[in-house]
Amino acid sequence: MANDGADITLLPLGVIERRVLAHVAAAVTRAFPGHLVAVSPAGRLPRGIWNTARGQCDSTRLIRYLDRHQVCPAGKLLAICDTDLCTQILTFVFGEAEVGGCYAVMSLHRLRPEVYGMPRSEALFFDRSGKEAIHELGHTFGLRHCYRYDCVMHSSDSIEATDLKREGFCPRCRSLVPRAPNC
Ligand SMILES: [Zn+2]
Ligand SMILES: [Zn+2]
Repeated sequence: MANDGADITLLPLGVIERRVLAHVAAAVTRAFPGHLVAVSPAGRLPRGIWNTARGQCDSTRLIRYLDRHQVCPAGKLLAICDTDLCTQILTFVFGEAEVGGCYAVMSLHRLRPEVYGMPRSEALFFDRSGKEAIHELGHTFGLRHCYRYDCVMHSSDSIEATDLKREGFCPRCRSLVPRAPNC
């Protein structure tokens, strides 16, 4: 799980399609200019993060695991899994991040149109994946939720909210994104 000197590392946990990882890496590179983005070799979902009663993984426990094991000693790390995520109080989350910290996690599971009974669409799935990745990494750079519904930092409690966002930051959020590596 080395980060190869990158200041933003994408860590696939489990089997994640290469094409979606490449799309996410390109979207993150566009969103955080000047930052070196790398995709690390795939790891495994740690056992201790399962919420067996719900059949989901606990995103808060996953972040704690990454932090405890210092999976990324420098820079920002976004773990990407395909397993549905939840927290103690939320029945599901698209992702979670440490605000101003190093670690973020996201799930691809609820970004697929077919999960909502819609036709498969790789373009829509990729688009949502890029937005979610930028949103969670934005938190690690200290950004909080934005009131603008079309800003990538707007909170998503439904996939419709995700689809209303653009991939980019609004001018105010953009001004808060550090342009150079800061870890
Ligand atoms: Zn958020
Ligand atoms: Zn904004």
